[in-house]
Amino acid sequence: GSKDVQPEVNIGVVGHVDHGKTTLVQALTGVWTARHSEELKRGMTIKLGYADGDIYKCTNCPEPDAYSPEPKCPRCPKGSVPQLLRRVSYVDAPGHEVLMATMLSGSSLMDGALLVIAANEPCPQPQTLEHFMALSIVGIKRLVVVQNKIDVVTKEEALKNYQQIKEFLKGTWAEDAVIVPVSALHKVNIDALLEAIEEEIPTPPRDLESPPLMWIARSFDVNKPGTPPEKLVGGVVGGSLIRGKLRIGDKIEIRPGYPVRSGTKIEYVPLESEVVSLRFGNVEVEEALPGGLVAIGTKLDPSLTKADALVGSVVGRPGELPPVFNELTMEYHLLERVVGFQKETKITPPRRGEPLMITVGTAITVGVVTSITKDEMSVKLQRPVVAWKGARVAFNRRIGNRWRLAGWGIVK
Ligand code: GDP
Ligand code: 5GP
Repeated sequence: GSKDVQPEVNIGVVGHVDHGKTTLVQALTGVWTARHSEELKRGMTIKLGYADGDIYKCTNCPEPDAYSPEPKCPRCPKGSVPQLLRRVSYVDAPGHEVLMATMLSGSSLMDGALLVIAANEPCPQPQTLEHFMALSIVGIKRLVVVQNKIDVVTKEEALKNYQQIKEFLKGTWAEDAVIVPVSALHKVNIDALLEAIEEEIPTPPRDLESPPLMWIARSFDVNKPGTPPEKLVGGVVGGSLIRGKLRIGDKIEIRPGYPVRSGTKIEYVPLESEVVSLRFGNVEVEEALPGGLVAIGTKLDPSLTKADALVGSVVGRPGELPPVFNELTMEYHLLERVVGFQKETKITPPRRGEPLMITVGTAITVGVVTSITKDEMSVKLQRPVVAWKGARVAFNRRIGNRWRLAGWGIVK
């Protein structure tokens, strides 16, 4: 059955707060990922949520009726056997405006995205625009626009909103993106959305031959308090393989690694261990491939992995990881305007000495511009990151009292 295969593609669910991302993920998977609002209230840093869902197609029914997230066809008499087309990992990005860096780091795991836009508000809302820019910046090219909450608007209002969405996307890379009207809450038109996902967001070709490489998006101590020492299990790191495979028994290295304070400085110590278990959701596997978010059980002391301590590091085989950088030199591009702002202001180039918030993969760090020309800049990083020639970097600038998405670069 579907439950013992790993997901093969990661699809981000992005858009303005309250436009229905969490509700949509539930309609697509049956899983409620509503941690976000609770965490927001408590003022915590919000981490990525994700849930796995299936796409089934009934062989008897016409399209789009044939598509369903469940292995039964609601329209067919008993006995129809819908086929499992794909298992999808939906990555649910936080929508609150302070979390842009998290949004960017989450985007680095996405193969494509659903941009959720509520039909009952003018488009674009600030994070609609900001998340769309973030997708553009991390280089996502596969997009389906979900026009949500059609149950609360009239047909005329829905059409007007549809025109606003078209206008918003006009002249961008997503100009021709498919727009699917749905009600996530009442599960209306989810079949058409699944059809659009099948057609517009194919599973990208994977590189299975290169050495494995994974950005760590979460890290855990999974032991319950009070577990006796002989029952303790090693640290768990979670993320998505960007290439290669990992098997139980493989030796691994983690870089830059664990932060250790020495005097006034923080140093990062690389860690070596071994894969003892591999898990996608509740599915245990022997071998993990790219696609889906995998939790890797290791022999590491769980105090090293607890509370997301290793987020932003990478996992690979010992000696086969790309280099660690303390300073990044990149060819850079600026956004024309500050997005997600009430009044849009023009972006000027960063200055020498200016602090930037840098995202590379799942790593987020502050850095200071050490040199800058018209198209190249170097940034000294507060914490080291793993990178390689050609890697994409996103940067935010301090504008007003918060970090604003300002541009992107390609590591030289
Ligand atoms: P998020 O912040 O984007 O994750 O949005 P949520 O999924 O938490 O939804 C925000 C609110 O909109 C909740 O009260 C949902 O019940 C409601 N909502 C989401 N989708 C729909 C929809 O299709 N129709 C209606 N009427 N309400 C919806
Ligand atoms: P939790 O602390 O919420 O139970 O688990 C956190 C994450 O670690 C989940 O993704 C879960 O699947 C994963 N996980 C928990 N125990 C193990 C384990 O023994 N091995 C592996 N590989 N993953 C685990």
